[in-house]
Amino acid sequence: MHYIGRFAPSPTGPLHEGSLLTALASYLEAKKHDGLWLLRIEDLDQPRCSQVHEKSILETLEAYGLYWDNAVMRQTDRINRYSDIYQSLIAKGQAYPCRCSRTDLKNRHTLHHYDRYCLNNPTDKEPAAVRFKVEQVLGFNDLLKGHQPTPAQGIGDFILYRRDGIVAYQLAVVLDDYEQGVTDIVRGSDLLDETHKQRSLQSSLKYPLLNYAHLPLVLAADGQKLSKQTFAQALPTQPSEIISQLKNAMVRLGQIDKKDDTPCDVEGFMEFALEIWDIHKVPKVIKNS
Ligand code: GLU
Repeated sequence: MHYIGRFAPSPTGPLHEGSLLTALASYLEAKKHDGLWLLRIEDLDQPRCSQVHEKSILETLEAYGLYWDNAVMRQTDRINRYSDIYQSLIAKGQAYPCRCSRTDLKNRHTLHHYDRYCLNNPTDKEPAAVRFKVEQVLGFNDLLKGHQPTPAQGIGDFILYRRDGIVAYQLAVVLDDYEQGVTDIVRGSDLLDETHKQRSLQSSLKYPLLNYAHLPLVLAADGQKLSKQTFAQALPTQPSEIISQLKNAMVRLGQIDKKDDTPCDVEGFMEFALEIWDIHKVPKVIKNS
């Protein structure tokens, strides 16, 4: 099957060094397979998203030589598609309305693993969230993280549609990946735990299961997770700094050594990066350098 990868940033801020690793690795892996690299703007959480960030993300990707294939997909253009899907899941008994508030969940100690109160006590009162009724959770093999068994405690019925009227990430990501024909996902390990949920939804919807590679998180030199303050600064777009950011990203991804000579124009650098790219060289832990 033809490889289709993607990069799916949320426009809640500009691209930073962490997002560059994901963008670059997913791009190179797709291109190494002669595949497509698609871009999707995940802007469902409107209060946290802005068009200014979206514009800066697109401009930064282009400045870094990360050109996407096809038209950009924007989640806010697809709200009706998401509603069709969760309504059809409700109709088939694979999802159900839920009126529980966060406080209810906390009081019942069911915040992380829902106790199915609203499945057993159905409600048609509004506003209600919609929960997916998890039937089957299978382990999977992650290209970088190895075998990921089914979590012993299960994953709990999760939200597809929030009570505040926002479509949940899990539903949108599964539907979008399917409709964009995505075959392979390369993204940060902060989303590793979400993958079981996405796969259980994919199998209920009878969508093909995807291949995953979760990149290690970047740790500070002392082994702590990097904080936003130290890591989430907007990527520079001056030509000389772009090369040093790309080079640093390739070092972090285990592809080159700091001392290696690399081309000093973006186009040349990206050609070189593609030639040497080998995802199996990505280290288990990325230390901030
Ligand atoms: N929009 C998510 C983020 O920016 C990424 C989702 C995904 O790659 O599945 O963290």
